[in-house]
Amino acid sequence: MKKNVLIIGGGPSGLEAATILKKFNYNVILVERSSILGGHLAKWDRLFPYMEPAKETLDVLLSNIDGITIFKDTEVNSINLLDKSYNVILSNGITILADALLITTGFDLFQAEKKEEYGYGIYEKVITSAELEEYFKTLNNNKIDNPKKIGFVHCVGSRDEKAANRACSKVCCATAVKQACEIKEKYPDADVYCFYMDLRMFGRGYEDLYLKAQKDYAIRFIRGRVSEVSEDINKSLVIKAEDTLSSKPIRVTLDLLVLMSGMRPSSGGEKIKKMLNLMTEDDGFFSTKDSIYSLQHSKLAGLFYAGAATGPKTLPDSLHEARSAAIQIHNYLNN
Ligand code: SF4
Repeated sequence: MKKNVLIIGGGPSGLEAATILKKFNYNVILVERSSILGGHLAKWDRLFPYMEPAKETLDVLLSNIDGITIFKDTEVNSINLLDKSYNVILSNGITILADALLITTGFDLFQAEKKEEYGYGIYEKVITSAELEEYFKTLNNNKIDNPKKIGFVHCVGSRDEKAANRACSKVCCATAVKQACEIKEKYPDADVYCFYMDLRMFGRGYEDLYLKAQKDYAIRFIRGRVSEVSEDINKSLVIKAEDTLSSKPIRVTLDLLVLMSGMRPSSGGEKIKKMLNLMTEDDGFFSTKDSIYSLQHSKLAGLFYAGAATGPKTLPDSLHEARSAAIQIHNYLNN
């Protein structure tokens, strides 16, 4: 009898782990609450730092899902831990007895309207990085109308006590620099500004992207937090900030402001947490068994994590974790 592995979450981590577990000859069931697979990757246009089309990566992930039982538009209604398995009831009425569970519920983006001072949802020309990415993909957004001056605000909902999140979201500096370059490609005459606290460009190729943004695209990087956004009578955005390198106040008028919303624990993960009374960290992401060796293990036998369910991660890191989780599950089921 093949053993059942249930994966909750059909983003990149869930898909990658499912493929490997299928090769290990398990009966893999994947549950995704939305109607599409691929999570945030499915909505993305190009990936930093080398600008690969997101669709190419998604197509690779989707090319290996034959033989995996996939339930889309399906939620987990309840989970009960039995002696050595989990009894899981899905919203489609199906019950699964899972020998192992993998949680890949990923992240939600911080709701930018919660930072009222940035004017999202109040001023038309304030958008999020996800909306800008969607524009790059579809070239359709009536808020973006040949902008001449564009600003990016880093750390929206991250590294911010007032937003109840002290942690860094890791990916939004590189995303901002990538998107700043891309918008400059579309609008070469535009002035583009990035307002940052400090730049966290830690991965391979990130620093080169940052240098390119300055040298080839003339992006202006201003260290300082934006304190206020308002609108003038021409519907242009007026940005007030402090340049903390020169200690001078700044006032800039912009046609478009892009907010780099950070990563927050997913609402889907919250639901699973309550069902099994799982531990989370101060930032709300799932706690792993330890912080060095057992990053894919929970404290419950047979329950594992991968990807951004345990905290902000880049796509390659999430895929690594998915592979690692598949191996850990294989070891667990064969021990
Ligand atoms: S990656 Fe950059 S923008 Fe994102 S939270 Fe960290 S410092 Fe802020």
